[in-house]
Order: sequence, then structure tokens, then C-alpha cells
Amino acid sequence: MLIDREKCIGCEECFPYCPVGAIRLAEGGSVSEIDQAECVECGCCYKRSSVCPVDAIYMPKLEWPRCLREYFSNPDVKHPSTTGNGRGTEEMKTNDVTGRFGRGEAGVALELGRPGVGTAFRDLETVAMAIARLGVEFESQNPVAELMADPKTGKFNDAVLNERVLSAIIELKVPVGKLRDVLAVVKEVATKIDTAFSLDLISRVDADGTTPVVAIAQAAGFSPRPNTKTNVGLGRPLFKEA
Ligand code: SF4
Ligand code: SF4
Repeated sequence: MLIDREKCIGCEECFPYCPVGAIRLAEGGSVSEIDQAECVECGCCYKRSSVCPVDAIYMPKLEWPRCLREYFSNPDVKHPSTTGNGRGTEEMKTNDVTGRFGRGEAGVALELGRPGVGTAFRDLETVAMAIARLGVEFESQNPVAELMADPKTGKFNDAVLNERVLSAIIELKVPVGKLRDVLAVVKEVATKIDTAFSLDLISRVDADGTTPVVAIAQAAGFSPRPNTKTNVGLGRPLFKEA
């Protein structure tokens, strides 16, 4: 996002709308400017608020890889790779139909960044490479997957590493028996990145009403807060139970 210096009157009305604090007064203080390194192209200052009294804020054409900022940070924009909006996938939300998470499997979603801090793909690479050493398979439908030069090692395309976004998610699925190892790596790698970091665990409830992943997470030093997702009448299953 850019500010037209010929139009801007330096009123600062747009400042509170930026979730990463990228808008500031330029030298001299009579006009404002946007820190291009920090701006995640979320569009809030431009179209959500329509706050600028003189229409000084404008969106230039974003070339690759900068356009990734918008794909991940502006929920009104679709990812060309997935044709979906948002940062991740449906995860467990449609599991009744997709059967993506079977019994004995655990889904892991690592959410990096949040409004107020954001994250860079360099952070995601750090996390992905640490976990990839365990031989996990990353979710191919997640838009982060196409940014990996080598999904086996979690190495990202070097060209995207400095691109900043509000938030992005690394998704993977492992046998429940492997979850303890994954969580140990997550604990360790969390100390190496400088942004908000939340961990989602996805698991089906066993027939006796228990969810073994909760105890595994607690043993690994996490404090899980279980939530359920029940989609009554969503549709007929497209899979056969193993
Ligand atoms: S597009 Fe978003 S991140 Fe960039 S300056 Fe506007 S509000 Fe801030
Ligand atoms: S609202 Fe418009 S005029 Fe006011 S500081 Fe922001 S860009 Fe400049």
C-alpha cells in the first residue's frame, strides 16, 4: 500500500487502522508514509475504513513475491493456488464429509503471527525445517505448501523469506504415536521465532469419549483447551471409515 504525498494532509486518521503499525509521519511531519517492509498489504487502511478524507491511500499492482502479503493477509482476496480465502484450509471443519483425519491420526496446525505482530515466511521456514526432520508430511492443500522449495526438508523458496504477512499456518498430520516427538520439537523451535505462535491439535473423539491427544499435549507441557466441531447435516461422507 502507498500514500500519495501530493494528496496526504498528515491528519493521522488512518494510523489506528493499520494492524501492524506501518503508517507513520514522514520526515518533516506534514505527510504520512507507509513502511514498505512492515506493511502486510491487508487493505484495512484503504478499503475497510475508507478513512482517508482526501483519498491519498492507494494500492499499486503487487508483483510476486510481494503479492503473497495480500493473499495471506487480506481475507477478501483469494489465493490463486487454492482459490480459497483465508490463511489455511478447512482442517477439521468438514471432517464429517472429507474424513481427512481418521482414527489414530492427529492434525497439527501451527499458526504464526497475529494482528499487532505479523510474521515473515522466514519464521515459517524455521518451524517447518525443525519439524520436517521428523519425517512428517505437510498438508499440500495449505497455501504455505507451495512456497516450500523442498517439502521433505521444509526449506522455503529463498525469494519469499522476507515477505511479511499477518498470519500463516503450517499444517501437517501424523500418527498419534508420533505426536509426542512433534510437540517436543514445537516447544523447542518456539523459542527461536519472534512472533505470536499458537498450536492447534486436531483429533477425532474415541468411541469411549476420550481424546488421547489431550493427555499427550499435557505431558509435553502444553495446556490444551478442547473444543468440538460438529457439523450436523453437513452432507454425506465422501469416504469409507477404515
Ligand atoms: S495495507 Fe494493511 S498493513 Fe499496509 S499500511 Fe494499510 S493497514 Fe497497514
Ligand atoms: S488519512 Fe489520508 S490524509 Fe490522513 S494521514 Fe492518512 S493518508 Fe494522509
